Amino acid sequence: TFKAIRIDKADKGTTAALTQFDEAELMDGDVTVAVEWSTVNYKDGLAVTGKSPVVRRFPMIAGVDFAGTVLESSHPGWKAGDKVVSTGWGLSETHLGAYAQKARVKGDWLVRLPEGMTARQAMAIGTAGFTAMLSVMALEKHGLTPNNGPVVVTGAAGGVGSVAVATLSKLGFHVIASTGRAAEADYLRGLGAAEVIDRNELSAPGKPLAKERWAGGIDSVGSTTLANLLSMTKYGGAIAACGLAGGMDLPSSVAPFILRGVCLLGIDSVMCPLTPRKAAWARIAKDVDHAKLAEMTTEIGLDEVIGAAPKILAGQLRGRTVVKIS
Ligand code: NAP
Repeated sequence: TFKAIRIDKADKGTTAALTQFDEAELMDGDVTVAVEWSTVNYKDGLAVTGKSPVVRRFPMIAGVDFAGTVLESSHPGWKAGDKVVSTGWGLSETHLGAYAQKARVKGDWLVRLPEGMTARQAMAIGTAGFTAMLSVMALEKHGLTPNNGPVVVTGAAGGVGSVAVATLSKLGFHVIASTGRAAEADYLRGLGAAEVIDRNELSAPGKPLAKERWAGGIDSVGSTTLANLLSMTKYGGAIAACGLAGGMDLPSSVAPFILRGVCLLGIDSVMCPLTPRKAAWARIAKDVDHAKLAEMTTEIGLDEVIGAAPKILAGQLRGRTVVKIS
């Protein structure tokens, strides 16, 4: 047996407990990994608390991301001793997840731990940081450069937001960080934000077209915030939409699209195919500042994950949280 955070179905909702899990209950997969580090993402908060139906198989092991060392492999790409990273792919939804000392997955889901990065740093990135990088790359593909004007990041003190602020600033962008936590203004400036604004400025319903404030943005909030981001985007700009921390709806109009040629870029990290996945990890290895990553990272143990879950949903965790497994 090994230690794991197990989710079970209850009469009402689900239960989560740190318990022993039987190795014989591991699901099919051609690679078995000794998990060393994991992390807490927004989705982990949803799965562990049961606040939204993320988990679709019981019993489940929660945790969407892990980094560790291959123990056994019948996959041609991997052998015992390889250092690997896994994010997304239905872990903690339909496949047993990462908050465990062991994981068995498909070798096709894994990427190699980037050269020069530790397993802990890879989990300080995790799904949230990977999503931030996919968003940066989508804006670049759109043609956005620092010369086009400022960029806005919402939910800036959260996981996706912190990595987005640090990365965009390192790439030379003038970053406007939007946060509900005024006390984190110095933290955000430390990550590279040029301006910090109050998220209330962006959360009330606004006009279909408003004053042009930024050339691009990364939004982890959704709802009226995303609608306002679009209405305030400069002619020809783009917003990468990756989250719903403020709501799943999008009360927008077509005005920014048809009158200013603004583009809305959708970002999914979970099923992201292997080629762009590897490209994003290569960019992470190259463009993420290790000192800033350390600055935004808090470490907890496996026994603290259940307590952290409601906190991330309440927007109380700053930056990224890594989980030491072994
Ligand atoms: P997180 O660390 O909790 O960050 C979310 C941040 O959003 C919070 O820190 C807070 O930032 C802000 N926020 C929270 N509640 C809000 C509200 N009601 N209204 C406005 N802002 C609010 O979570 P995360 O792991 O970075 O994930 C962020 C979002 O991206 C989540 O919705 C998650 O589901 C989504 N996501 C999507 C993908 C994908 O593949 N598309 C991947 C990863 C994450 P401030 O305190 O600074 O305001």
